[in-house]
Amino acid sequence: MMKFKLASLIFSTTLITFPLMAQEQQQITLCGKLAQGEIIKGKATGIKTARINGANHQVAPDGNFIFAFPRDQKAEAELLLTKEDGEAASHILHIAPSQWDIQNLKGVPQRKVTPSKEDEAAILSERTLVRGALKGDRLETYWQKGFIEPVKGRISGYFGGQRIMNGKKMNPHSGTDIAAPIGTPIKASGDGIVTLTAPNTFYSGNVVIIDHGHGLQTIYAHMNKIYVKQGQSVKQGEIIGEVGKTGRVTGPHLHWGASLRNTRFNPYSLLKLNKNNDSCFNL
Ligand SMILES: [Zn+2]
Repeated sequence: MMKFKLASLIFSTTLITFPLMAQEQQQITLCGKLAQGEIIKGKATGIKTARINGANHQVAPDGNFIFAFPRDQKAEAELLLTKEDGEAASHILHIAPSQWDIQNLKGVPQRKVTPSKEDEAAILSERTLVRGALKGDRLETYWQKGFIEPVKGRISGYFGGQRIMNGKKMNPHSGTDIAAPIGTPIKASGDGIVTLTAPNTFYSGNVVIIDHGHGLQTIYAHMNKIYVKQGQSVKQGEIIGEVGKTGRVTGPHLHWGASLRNTRFNPYSLLKLNKNNDSCFNL
C-alpha cells in the first residue's frame, strides 16, 4: 500500500511538472504606449540586461524593467534582452509619432531668454547640479508603486511643446507646466529619495529632484518653498514644497519633469505606469 502511494505521488508530480517545463518559453510583456515621449514597463523572466537605444537598463529580480522614448525618438527602436547565460534576443519596436504644440510665450524676463556673460556661471552651476542628479541609477524599485499628479491644475504648457519666448525659438519644453496659485502644496509624485534641492537656480528657480530607482527621476521646478532635504526619503503624496514663480517664468506654476537615464519624457505617461493592464501586450 505504501509503495503504491509513493509511486502514485511521483507519477502525479511528474505529470504536473512536465507540462510546466514545456511552457517555459520566454515571455516578454510590454505595458504602455509605443510612442515618442512615453515610458514603457517591460517584464521578461530570466534576463540580466535590457538594452534600448544603445543604453543598458536595470532589471529587477522579478524581471521588471522600464525605459522611455525621447521626444524625438526615431520610428524604430531596438530592444535587446540578454539572458543570464549571455544569449541575446533583439526586438525591433515601432514607435508612433506624437503631436507637439507650439507655445508662444511673451513677457518672459529678457535676461532669462538672452542671458548675459555674467549669468554664465549660474547657468553652468544649475546644469551641473541637475545633470548630476539625473545620472542616478539606483537599484531600488520605488517606481513599482506607481505615480500621482503632484498638483492638480490647468496645464499651461505641455511636454515637448516648441517654445518661442519673446519671439525667439527655444529648446522644446522638457516637462509639463501646471498652473496653480503661489503656496499650493506640491506632492511627491512617487516614493523615492530626494537627490537634489537647489535654491534660486537661473532657469528652474527653487528645484527638487526625486529619484525613484532604475534611473527614473521626477523634477519639480519654480517652487516658492522647499520642505525637503537632500538625501531624505519621501512617500508618494508627501508635501515637498509650494508652487511658486522662481526662475524663468511668466507666472506661478509647477514645472513637473520626468527623466529616465537622461531621457526626458512626458511626466503624465507616469500616471498609467503599473495601473493600466489594458496597455500591456506580449512581444
Ligand atoms: Zn516648464
